[in-house]
Amino acid sequence: MTDFYASDSSYHGGQWVNLLVDPERSALLKKICTDLSSITLNDRQLCDFELLTTGAFSPLTGFMNRSNYESVLDRMKLQDGTLWPVPICLDISETVARPLEAGQSVVIRDPEGFLLAVMHVEDIWKADKDKEAALLYGTADKSHPGVADLFGNTAAYYIGGSLEVLSLPLHFDFKPLRMTPPEVRGLFRKLGWNRILGFHTVNTIHRPEFEVAIRAMQKSRANLLLLPGVGMTGPGDFDYYTRVRCYRHVIGYFPPESAVMSLLPVSMRMAGPRDWLLQCIIGKNYGCTHFIVGHQHAYSGTSNGALSFYDDDTTRAMVQESAQALGMSIVRFEELVYLPFEDEFFPRDQVAPGTESISLTSLDIRERIRSGRKIPRWATFAEVVAELKKAYPSPSRQGFTVFFTGLSGAGKSTIARVLYAKMLEIGKRPVTLLDGDIVRLNLSNELSFSKEHRDINVRRIGFVASEITKNRGVAICAPIAPYAATRHEIRANIEACGGFIEVHVATPLDVCEKRDRKGMYAKARAGLIKGYTGIDDPYEIPEAPEVRVDTTGKTPDEAAQEILIYLGQKRFI
Ligand code: ADP
Repeated sequence: MTDFYASDSSYHGGQWVNLLVDPERSALLKKICTDLSSITLNDRQLCDFELLTTGAFSPLTGFMNRSNYESVLDRMKLQDGTLWPVPICLDISETVARPLEAGQSVVIRDPEGFLLAVMHVEDIWKADKDKEAALLYGTADKSHPGVADLFGNTAAYYIGGSLEVLSLPLHFDFKPLRMTPPEVRGLFRKLGWNRILGFHTVNTIHRPEFEVAIRAMQKSRANLLLLPGVGMTGPGDFDYYTRVRCYRHVIGYFPPESAVMSLLPVSMRMAGPRDWLLQCIIGKNYGCTHFIVGHQHAYSGTSNGALSFYDDDTTRAMVQESAQALGMSIVRFEELVYLPFEDEFFPRDQVAPGTESISLTSLDIRERIRSGRKIPRWATFAEVVAELKKAYPSPSRQGFTVFFTGLSGAGKSTIARVLYAKMLEIGKRPVTLLDGDIVRLNLSNELSFSKEHRDINVRRIGFVASEITKNRGVAICAPIAPYAATRHEIRANIEACGGFIEVHVATPLDVCEKRDRKGMYAKARAGLIKGYTGIDDPYEIPEAPEVRVDTTGKTPDEAAQEILIYLGQKRFI
């Protein structure tokens, strides 16, 4: 077996781990692989896998076994006493777990089936998610994004064991910006840097963050290593490309040869202080001697941004204690706000009462750009605004989806057809009508009308609409889409790349039933078909659609007009 470790006290735990095997071993492993079961990694797991392989997670040599997992949860330490804040586990479904046993080896593949590694299984166990949520996140509240991910997207079993890696996950973009810890350290040596300040961020860097970084560099007399987290986003996600292009511009604003960056494929746990500590350990492995902790590092807001779960005091205490254990210096920063009169940034807590101050977060800036409003010059850099404008054009240049939902016979298809004609008449963008029946015929004709299949059909419509929206077209969809969760999911996907206008066609059931265009209600009432929406299957009424229209006593033209007015008001047309 390849030697995993190279003793080096500047790495966490005193050793650099490199899981990539040499060509000889690789050839041998490839031969035995054909007889082994496979585990396919998802995007989140691929991030962990990559950091394990390159040694960014040194001293870990694979996905955690049960005793390390429990020890990390209980006391934030590995079994051997090394500080470690967050479990790095590989989750697998019961179906995958059932035939596997400790002591055997399995093949690790990427979603395309590409061979990545061989794992020597030490442990397989059922995750106690309640315990994990309580210990890792300090809450079982599902509005915490990490908890939601644990319960919603993490499989039921964990499998632990060391890895022998044949290949790193493939990346085709920004290759020079993806460096391993030894590569980055090599660069530091070449540049003659000894004091290095790490800065981990997942947001676009605007002026306040830039000011934080430069002041922290001054305070610590160190050069900067920017570590932008690019995990769980990837090809196809234009936001990621935009963000990296923005970082490249911002790097140019630092004094010459004082800042470098390396993209970090990290899947954040959003576990507040524990997550921050993990970034800090990664920073140490990349050779940082100092690390920035900004004011928001402590927080993990709920998905609607209303609450935060971790307070500053807890983080502060933990940061202090852990920094000592890691042998790193922590540079703490409060939020900076802009004082228009002084034309300068100041820490919020140092602004004299009564002094006018303003701040715009990265999200505020993005929202402003998306709704076509101006960005003040103090807030960010001209090149960054230009990049964001390319990615988030004003509504009149964005694609959008009009998503009709409502009972059968409510009038969705009829209004959709009117709207389709109007959009063609306007003629500014390509328009696609994704009517329920047409989609069934062309995209989903193998599907039945079972609850599950109807939901798959709606998701397919949502996917096609998101592709159209991303490419700046107009998609008009008219499925029944009775389930709120599916609609939410589709909304989230589409809003990431353009406008989403949900139209609830709220015609009451008795009116729809009287219309009974397709004779389906009569059949459902007679019990000839089962699971019909509105009769013996629920329709979950949208809580806050952009437009709600009841077609009773209205013409289709009048109903379509209400949608056109909304589109005009929001500057889409
Ligand atoms: P859905 O697509 O929601 O199942 P359809 O559009 O196929 O519904 O059918 C709706 C029926 O209601 C059509 O026969 C249509 O002519 C009639 N209708 C009456 N008033 C309206 C209106 N204001 N908007 C849409 N349809 C209407």
